[in-house]
Amino acid sequence: MLRSRHVMRQLQLPLQRAYSTGSNPSDGKDPEDLHPIRRTFRLLGNDMLKIKEFFVPTAEKYKDVPKPIATQSKFKFGGDKGLDDEFQTHCDVLIVGGGGIGSSIAFWLKEKARNGLNVVVVEKDEKYTRSATRVSLGALTQQFSLPENIQMSLFGAEFLRNAPEHFGTDIPIQYTPHGQLVLAGEADADMLKQTSQLQNELGARNELLTAERLASRFPWLNTKDVALGCLGLEREGWFDPWALLTNYRRGALGYGGHFVHGEVVDFVFQNQDQEQRSSAHPNTGLIFTAAFSFNLFSSGDGKDAEETPETKLVNTIKRSIICIQNEQYDKAEQMLHLSLRMAQDLQSSHGITYVYDIMANLAMEREQFKKAEKLFVDVMKRLMSDGHTEDSPKILHISSKIAHMSQLQGELEKSFQGFTWTLQRLAKLVKEMPKDNDILELYGLTKNWFGQLLMKQGKYTEAKNLFKEALEILVEVYGTLNDASVTILNNISVAYVNLENYTEAKETLLHALSIAKELKDATQEGVIQANLGLVYLREGLLKEAEKFCKLAWKLGKSHKNADAIEQAEYCLNEIKSSINR
Ligand SMILES: Cc1cc2nc3c(=O)[nH]c(=O)nc-3n(C[C@H](O)[C@H](O)[C@H](O)COP(=O)(O)OP(=O)(O)OC[C@H]3O[C@@H](n4cnc5c(N)ncnc54)[C@H](O)[C@@H]3O)c2cc1C
Repeated sequence: MLRSRHVMRQLQLPLQRAYSTGSNPSDGKDPEDLHPIRRTFRLLGNDMLKIKEFFVPTAEKYKDVPKPIATQSKFKFGGDKGLDDEFQTHCDVLIVGGGGIGSSIAFWLKEKARNGLNVVVVEKDEKYTRSATRVSLGALTQQFSLPENIQMSLFGAEFLRNAPEHFGTDIPIQYTPHGQLVLAGEADADMLKQTSQLQNELGARNELLTAERLASRFPWLNTKDVALGCLGLEREGWFDPWALLTNYRRGALGYGGHFVHGEVVDFVFQNQDQEQRSSAHPNTGLIFTAAFSFNLFSSGDGKDAEETPETKLVNTIKRSIICIQNEQYDKAEQMLHLSLRMAQDLQSSHGITYVYDIMANLAMEREQFKKAEKLFVDVMKRLMSDGHTEDSPKILHISSKIAHMSQLQGELEKSFQGFTWTLQRLAKLVKEMPKDNDILELYGLTKNWFGQLLMKQGKYTEAKNLFKEALEILVEVYGTLNDASVTILNNISVAYVNLENYTEAKETLLHALSIAKELKDATQEGVIQANLGLVYLREGLLKEAEKFCKLAWKLGKSHKNADAIEQAEYCLNEIKSSINR
């Protein structure tokens, strides 16, 4: 019997396996938006546009800048929150170092994205004793030679001028725009003239002063060897950098950013191929998120920075999902219980149902099938009392899972009845809504699961036919390149082997292999190669069998992939024992 555990397992996952985003993947966003890096750059991209618009190089622009509205404090704190924030197991943006720059990035990202990005700052020095920001003089100059630097300083000055609008007045920045004076000797005087002209063109106003004018304006200044001076007329000056850092940090925290005390000591890089693959080719784990979307995860209009009980609930649920994706099941369980209590306090019926559903999926993931079934039944009851009928996709989704869990527990008759019941209703739904991808996906997955049951019952021909139907449906939904195709093709080949049709089995596996290669999925590739080896072994072709098993082993080793190695070693052991027989 061929082994297909690892490949099949991917179809059994009830939760989405792709990188987590901190937001609900099913809330109808552009798939591009699911990638945290793309989302971050998109946000920054918009920001950069705004900044560009802001810098129309005319001094006139600043005449109408509205007066800052002084408020006591923009952010509500029970005291200043320190760096002992709750440790985040996942984030969209990780900032190493919470000095002036890191805290500023955190502030701007959170100010812009609010709940849309989970931003975490890691700072090793709680008291900032050695940070440059803390010891900085806090001088703000605009006298640069590069246009970009001049523009940045203009933005910085404008921001400092309006600091109370951004931060409130709790911790004054002490912005004091009294100008900066830059001096040049004979050799650098021309350069000073040129840069002064550029600065004025861009709106950073300053004036050139000869040595005589400098001496009369600043009698205390020694002007010996000074040929020219340049004095900033607007916005240049100084401020309190520690106050700025503190405000940035409080602001970022106020918008829901996280600061943790710790030192980043290394980076472990993930295989890019894997990540790209997961965004380009959907995997079938979507089954969970496709079933439920109660719009709990809408990110709001971004205007309200305060955490309401509802946003607290949503954030706790999100964290629990992140924990599940990171396989931190105990922590996820705790958070789900907390979420349940919150949802009950809020009397949010949808919230309670949603939490129960995640709990059920978590139990299924942990192979706690009895518990999962009980929870799924509770979810079904709640859905039905909300008006869902036996034929509604959400109910069918759950009944398919219950039937699958029965199969996994060896309750084959119960599983058979469950699948027959579910598939009858799904077939009707597909007729009514032939273009509904969620229903089609569920139909395909249920057929595949039913096929697995029939394999257990020794009904290989029926199983093979069901797998083929499942494949056709899922290709219609995802296209040819997807994990599910590889898994189902592997299942078909297992059926063929049991029917002793080795030629078809090999052809099917070669087809699966080509898809796995295109997907750059080394695990699937290794497992399929090992299975090919096993088919050759069945045919008594030992050399061919050994070739594929060794290829699988090498692939597993080079990609440090335990699943592929395990499958290859199984295959090689089978060859050895067949030689010894
Ligand atoms: C004496 C002095 C005077 C200055 N005067 C001016 C001035 O007048 N005007 C001006 O514009 N600029 C001035 N500067 C420069 C300015 O202060 C810096 O450019 C700016 O503060 C840099 O900010 P930063 O966040 O990059 O660095 P920092 O403020 O040094 O912050 C870096 C943070 O990263 C943390 N960190 C480092 N490694 C890790 C790690 N692996 N894991 C976790 N945390 C880590 C550190 O603990 C630190 O808190 C001055 C600098 C100095 C030293």
